[in-house]
Amino acid sequence: MKELTLDRLREDGQAFTEEISRESYLAHSGHKASADFQPIYGKYANVLGDEALGLTLDLFKDSAKGTDEHRSAALLLEWQLESQASRSLAELDEREIEWERNAVITTPDGQQVQYQAAAIEIANEKNRVKRLALDDARAALVQQDHAPMRLERIQREKDFIESLGIAPTYNAAFEEITGVSLDSLAKECAAFIRDSQAMWDETLPYHLKKSLGLKPGEATRSDALALLRASEYDGAFPGQHLQSSISRQIKEMGLDPVADGRIIYDVGDRPGKRARAFCAPTRVPEEVYLVLRPHGGQSDYTTLLHEAGHALHFANVRSDYPFEYRWLGDNSVTESYAMLMDHRMQDRRWLLRYTELGTGNVDDFLRLAGFEELHYIRRYCAKLIYEVQAYGDNADWKDLPDLYVETLTSATNFRYRAADAFVDFDARYYSTRYLRAWQLQAQLNESLVSRFDLDWFRNPGAGPWLISDLWSEGQRESAEEIASRVSGTGEKLSFAPLLRNIEMLLGS
Ligand SMILES: [Zn+2]
Repeated sequence: MKELTLDRLREDGQAFTEEISRESYLAHSGHKASADFQPIYGKYANVLGDEALGLTLDLFKDSAKGTDEHRSAALLLEWQLESQASRSLAELDEREIEWERNAVITTPDGQQVQYQAAAIEIANEKNRVKRLALDDARAALVQQDHAPMRLERIQREKDFIESLGIAPTYNAAFEEITGVSLDSLAKECAAFIRDSQAMWDETLPYHLKKSLGLKPGEATRSDALALLRASEYDGAFPGQHLQSSISRQIKEMGLDPVADGRIIYDVGDRPGKRARAFCAPTRVPEEVYLVLRPHGGQSDYTTLLHEAGHALHFANVRSDYPFEYRWLGDNSVTESYAMLMDHRMQDRRWLLRYTELGTGNVDDFLRLAGFEELHYIRRYCAKLIYEVQAYGDNADWKDLPDLYVETLTSATNFRYRAADAFVDFDARYYSTRYLRAWQLQAQLNESLVSRFDLDWFRNPGAGPWLISDLWSEGQRESAEEIASRVSGTGEKLSFAPLLRNIEMLLGS
């Protein structure tokens, strides 16, 4: 057997990543009834074994911080850990995908709903009694089947990482490799929840009453789904114009929405398609799938904008960059580009130009957008605080459902369910990626405004700048490095610009 070199690791690593990405695209989009990950892991055993891990660990330890070599090593090491953990859990993942695809919810009155479409049905159900019954049935099924699968995966992944001995604990290993401080971020999150409390207490009762006729304390998470679905605005966000409106904006920004055919849109309804949209960069930058299952109304616009941000990013990465810069790295970066796009749904000028909202409705809509933004950030802050405790040393898995309900309910005032404690859980701290992306996109927006004006999204210079200064770099840099570079003043990531934006929206 040939000795594994760095070049070989890159080459085979890329081929492996492409096959896994294609397989999950096919399974999650409903094109394939099940996912066959295990044969792929078997085929690429050479890049997923002890030798590959040893090679990347040595590179990481032996290279000097601040060098390109160390940068590459950190990205490759994180990828090794994630891939090797996933390999050991491939059977579980296949089982979960198959279960999700076939699971059906039955309410007491005999209504049957695909498990994967439950969130869509709940959000669209205007009759509260039926909505709660549907959610009861969903939660019972989660409790019985899905939660045990998720819990097993979280536990086994944690055991696997700890067994490698990179750092004394799971959390310390995460921090060591990613450079993200969980403790500081959790503190920032707690501060955000505190600093926005008065604003939240003032805003929540109004929207609950207006949209659902409820008082704080009565509402559940399923009510939150219905409220944020905001079906009263459906007329302004027609499904038949979804793709054309957003394509028009991307063109006005000086870009090709399909990136010369490298981006493939998959936005139709199909049984077996996941409710949660995703972007599958199957070959970077040559072949990127954007998959969305329509829910209806404004949420589809937000989702398509978000996924288009990912797709434009991956389809415009420099093709001469090594595997790790194109494929791997800090996912806060790609999430920030996705959020930079989806935050146009909070942009008065964007809404007036690309939707049918009109001047008569835009202020009301922006106030709702401010409420929604505040809700989601508070929810994500609470999720991170919960997850840090859940992954912590002193956690007892049995106590986590109660901790989850308490943490999430107190931050959002929507009643959460114990059944969701392991399903509504971002493994490997993906929530840190979202939270830092939120912060970064706010700064990027400010940079774009200063360079290309308030309506940068239709400035033909903005798109080419996004490609040359941001997207082409892949995820070579971390979110912190990009914030510092793009601001030109070494700015740090923080929630401050987000709070300012929410205040402005709520005052519309
Ligand atoms: Zn995303």
